[in-house]
Amino acid sequence: MTMEQPTGNAVLDYVPSELRGQLLSVAKRFSATDSAVTDGRINWEKYCVFMVDGFAIETVCLNGSAPTATFMYGPEGVAGLGRVLWLENHQRSPLRVQGDGLAISAASLARFLDENESLRCAVNRYLSAHMTVAARLLACGTQHQVAPRVACWLLMAADRCSSSTVTITQDQLASYLAASRSTVSKSCQPWIAGGIIRLSRGQVFILDRDRLENEACECYRFCGTAFAVERTC
Ligand SMILES: [Zn+2]
Repeated sequence: MTMEQPTGNAVLDYVPSELRGQLLSVAKRFSATDSAVTDGRINWEKYCVFMVDGFAIETVCLNGSAPTATFMYGPEGVAGLGRVLWLENHQRSPLRVQGDGLAISAASLARFLDENESLRCAVNRYLSAHMTVAARLLACGTQHQVAPRVACWLLMAADRCSSSTVTITQDQLASYLAASRSTVSKSCQPWIAGGIIRLSRGQVFILDRDRLENEACECYRFCGTAFAVERTC
């Protein structure tokens, strides 16, 4: 890949190719298969993450609880912008990544944002959709049952990986959705029995996407539409 070619990340691909090349020259490429990613040696606190295939999950632990997912970031946007806005005192939010992406230090991205209107425009476009989706998912977490939320989450993750397989355990799903492991397991059982999904060794295989969409709450379509509209306007 040359510097100027599209990357697969909507924010990076929105800016002129010359600027994209400058951004890529300071970016670190990573893959979730890298040992540095899997064993946590990358200090994500200092970076903003542009996924090109896959997703990054920002988590928060309240009162010593298991990590709850606050947001799932895919190739439509950028994770860790809070690090740019509050470089010194932003509350640290660990990232869990699955897939491939580019990491740019928050300090570098802050300088690029200061100097480039097209990058500010790209980030603002993404943030407008992000806020819409975040508000929707906040309501989803309080109003919708766990089973449709699990289906919604699996579909959103699969979309970001461009795959029908999502690497995640039921324990992680329960933690991210602030639900119990047994509730998540009960949610999955009829889908497994009905041939909609299959679970194996920390992976979820989506066998029948259409039927899984029928099981998901309407938030799945809402969130997908919000990002699609942002990309085309
Ligand atoms: Zn919902």
